Amino acid sequence: MPETLVLDRSGLASILSELRARDYLLVGPTIQQEAIGYGPIDSLDDLPQGWTNVQSPGASHLERRDDERLFGYVVGPHSWKKYLMPNEVVIWRGERTDTGFETVPPEPAPAYALFGVRPCEVAAIAVQDAVFMPTDRVYRERREAAFIVAVNCTQAGANCFCTSMGTGPAVGEDAVFDIAFTEVDRNGTLAYLVEAGSDDGAAVLQTVVGAEPASDADLAMLESVLQEAAASVTKTMDTDGIHDLMLANLRNGYWEDVGGRCLACTNCTMVCPTCFCNTVEDTMTLDGTTAERTRKWDSCFSIDFSYIHGGPLRMTPEARYRQWLTHKLATWFDQYGTSGCVGCGRCITWCPVGIDLTAEVAALRRVDARQGLSVPLPEVMA
Ligand code: SF4
Ligand code: SF4
Repeated sequence: MPETLVLDRSGLASILSELRARDYLLVGPTIQQEAIGYGPIDSLDDLPQGWTNVQSPGASHLERRDDERLFGYVVGPHSWKKYLMPNEVVIWRGERTDTGFETVPPEPAPAYALFGVRPCEVAAIAVQDAVFMPTDRVYRERREAAFIVAVNCTQAGANCFCTSMGTGPAVGEDAVFDIAFTEVDRNGTLAYLVEAGSDDGAAVLQTVVGAEPASDADLAMLESVLQEAAASVTKTMDTDGIHDLMLANLRNGYWEDVGGRCLACTNCTMVCPTCFCNTVEDTMTLDGTTAERTRKWDSCFSIDFSYIHGGPLRMTPEARYRQWLTHKLATWFDQYGTSGCVGCGRCITWCPVGIDLTAEVAALRRVDARQGLSVPLPEVMA
């Protein structure tokens, strides 16, 4: 068991200073466009101190807290994939030579310190690791260069269901991070109970001035705070047999119901920390001397995403929603040995019509074809 240390605010700030001294680019939670997103930070003063985000299906707004917590909110519309799998990145560049094109060596990957990574997001990064680490240079170089400072949750949002997915509200024993901490009220003063998760994390913590070992009372308080956080998760998803449920109901007419509500706007996939659909675009300068291949985020909700010679495979929103949910909750296991959903709730919050995948799974269970309860498949999907 790594030792748990107690830091005050200046101790937490010194972690940032040390990471900057080690040439990491610091990124963390900041208020952007009336939401809590992720962006460059210089110090703890850039965090959404004293703010919280109140969420429901299809809605989120900021409110002032009655305390000055630095981490008194849940995940917003951004996820850390914007740093590890950027929404637009050049994956190949070539320059014309006398005999053709020569590959220009890529720039070194930026080294980000991700500050304030929630436990479900640590889990999401592990999911993307399984997808990208074996084959994708851009992701692998950014991931290997990154330093992860995780923060346990002390309260849940209305759309969080991490406890159903086994991903929160605290980082798990198998989670991969460098430092993890919990913000607690210690005798009326905010304090940070911190532990290292890697050798690099331990080395950074050794530089913190004023750290003291957590007492038995501190550890008991930590356990109680995390139990309260788990109890505050009210949304659930029944994952029992979910893989087989999804695959047994591919031809269930239920999909027409959700398809009738889905706008195919792609929001759910853009905000999801594990979704990885992408497309590539090739461009060349007007003088023909330089060519580039750029990778951009795409979405399985885009009609063009399934375009092959002759037309798109998934013509309707119901076909695209079925593809998305079935991949998340069933075929992701077949491909990567893990769920594609970590229970962060973003797709519920940022869906403009408030479609809630936990409610959709419950609805599908009610008309499970294996019980002879399926509704007829619409002609367009038959
Ligand atoms: S489920 Fe919601 S967020 Fe996702 S594409 Fe449909 S309308 Fe957009
Ligand atoms: S599917 Fe929704 S709840 Fe699950 S990880 Fe993606 S955004 Fe979060």
